[in-house]
Amino acid sequence: MWFLWRRYALGVKEKVVLPLAKRWISGPDLSAAIDDAKKANSRGIGAVVNFLGEEIMDPTAADAQVEEYLRLQAALADGGIRGFASVKLTQLGMGSDDEAMRNRFDKIAANAEKTSQLLWIDMEGSKFTEKTVATYLDAHDHHRSLGVAIQAYARRSEADVDAILNRGGMVRLVKGAYREGSDFAFPTKPEINKNFERLMTALFERGDGFAIATHDGALIERAKVLAESSHAKFRFELLKGIRDDLKVDLVKSGYAVSEYLPYGDRWWAYSKRRISEHPSNVWLLLRSMV
Ligand SMILES: Cc1cc2nc3c(=O)[nH]c(=O)nc-3n(C[C@H](O)[C@H](O)[C@H](O)COP(=O)(O)OP(=O)(O)OC[C@H]3O[C@@H](n4cnc5c(N)ncnc54)[C@H](O)[C@@H]3O)c2cc1C
Repeated sequence: MWFLWRRYALGVKEKVVLPLAKRWISGPDLSAAIDDAKKANSRGIGAVVNFLGEEIMDPTAADAQVEEYLRLQAALADGGIRGFASVKLTQLGMGSDDEAMRNRFDKIAANAEKTSQLLWIDMEGSKFTEKTVATYLDAHDHHRSLGVAIQAYARRSEADVDAILNRGGMVRLVKGAYREGSDFAFPTKPEINKNFERLMTALFERGDGFAIATHDGALIERAKVLAESSHAKFRFELLKGIRDDLKVDLVKSGYAVSEYLPYGDRWWAYSKRRISEHPSNVWLLLRSMV
């Protein structure tokens, strides 16, 4: 009985949710992401490409993630595409074998240097924050052009941004996408937005090469004001499928803009985060089921 229910649920997920999820993901394979990256470039937008995967414990599977990232970086370079990769450390084995994870990350970071591309590290749930920041700071000593996502909802982020800026590192500032307790994260939107603004101010004062990654119009307007009195190079980064109008407006106004393009068949965890963070997406999902 349980087996039949599970098969039914999987079928619903594939048939009903996958078409909706394609709003936020390029598709199952690299060629779909490369197509989207080219489309973004043709609109004056750079690409940040992520091969979907998280919490991969099996070493063979984690090695395969490295191979895919090397393929992705080669495809971007060979296609003359303005873009680069963004990776999650748990897809390289963080949490299972951290030394092996660092070796895997080193290979991707070395290839980023070889192909003259940036490389971002995505930030994941709170149980990985400390290790992610530490891995980033360590790798930053050995590789150029690495950046890490920092979550404005996290109480610790002010100290993390400070440590990263002291070392000349690069930050992608996001609000944060995981469900966290109030011991780790500010619980209300106003507090998160206030911290986003505080961290963003520090980036404009002391950072360079950073990314302001939000769809929040008020914070984007605030970034534009801060940019007027700063010499820092920065870009706006937005997710595929969200506020396409805004991306084009920002490009027209002369700002550097990139679009985050996830691809791969491990699309469920990512899509769940996109569905849950915006009420209209739940309606979209329910409507598509009837
Ligand atoms: C380039 C990029 C990289 C990211 N990397 C990470 C990461 O490494 N780690 C991490 O924890 N989080 C990451 N995030 C996700 C981020 O933390 C937020 O969960 C997400 O961006 C939504 O927050 P917001 O800043 O857009 O503000 P919100 O206050 O959530 O949204 C502001 C407005 O944006 C629009 N909007 C936002 N989300 C949606 C949606 N799903 N569907 C439709 N409209 C929407 C709505 O108009 C909304 O009013 C990333 C986001 C971006 C843009």
